[in-house]
Amino acid sequence: MLLIRDNIELLKEISKIRNLKRKINFIPTMGNLHNGHLNLIRKAKKQTNITLVSIFVNPLQFNNRIDYKTYPRTLEDDKKILINEGIDILFVPADNFISKKSDLLDLGVISKKLCGKDRPGHFEGVARVIFRFLSLIKPDNIFLGEKDFQQILVIKKVIKKFKCDTRIKIIQTIRDVNKVALSSRNNLLKENFKQAIIIPRVLFKVKKLIESGSCSLSEIDKIKSNIKEECNVYLKYLEVLKESNLDSLNNVYSRCRIFICVSISEIRLIDNLSLNGKYRLSKIGVIERKKEVD
Ligand code: AMP
Repeated sequence: MLLIRDNIELLKEISKIRNLKRKINFIPTMGNLHNGHLNLIRKAKKQTNITLVSIFVNPLQFNNRIDYKTYPRTLEDDKKILINEGIDILFVPADNFISKKSDLLDLGVISKKLCGKDRPGHFEGVARVIFRFLSLIKPDNIFLGEKDFQQILVIKKVIKKFKCDTRIKIIQTIRDVNKVALSSRNNLLKENFKQAIIIPRVLFKVKKLIESGSCSLSEIDKIKSNIKEECNVYLKYLEVLKESNLDSLNNVYSRCRIFICVSISEIRLIDNLSLNGKYRLSKIGVIERKKEVD
């Protein structure tokens, strides 16, 4: 595995790869690698392309300094894991990889909803670092985890806006035995980890209710207030939204997804689940499932 820290060195290596007519599969991460990351890497490795993993804790996407400072950094362990996985290049950019000030693009409403509401500037920071990576590496494919679904929509927007020649490969969320999505932040929970089980419990419960075809918004509100009353976790949001643009449901049948964010002892955890079928909201606030025609 080639460890590269310098942009110029990376460009040289990329030009060698291009001369050999090989394609590049790119997997951006913030390190502290777990099986969720490894699943992305293994999917990328399945093809004959070069696999390039980046590890960069991007300061621009942290709106909270303590969160940035305490984000787990385990580069030495990560390196060993990546060597073991047989990846070709690990790119670890310098701290000044992206400049603090530069206009990028208006991400529109997508960046203002869900996590964008209480993390102002977060998705703009994500867009800036991804744009920097894409301009430098020009990968053929970028592998992204479904767990960060809102982030995928933002990256789609960056790719479209700047006409990048990169295809997005969305890889399913990896969960532990209790269905809690793996996340580097889980390690910060320590003895409070068990409380995270509420996340998949709620997600799968709401999924079942909605897919049965007659769940009302008031039932979802009831679930929300139960979480607030019964558990020692702070529910930041639980929402069912259109998958393509995060719009609220209306009278048009659309593919939808459930999104959740909770905070457990100040540690923020997110997850989401797709819904089978298409849904719309009736005038009396019932989420109706579209009948499938044979
Ligand atoms: P991060 O290091 O948290 O920035 O994540 C790097 C990539 O790994 C992103 O595309 C994430 O969506 C993906 N990822 C993180 N956790 C999981 C998981 N549990 N399952 C699948 N992909 C994941």
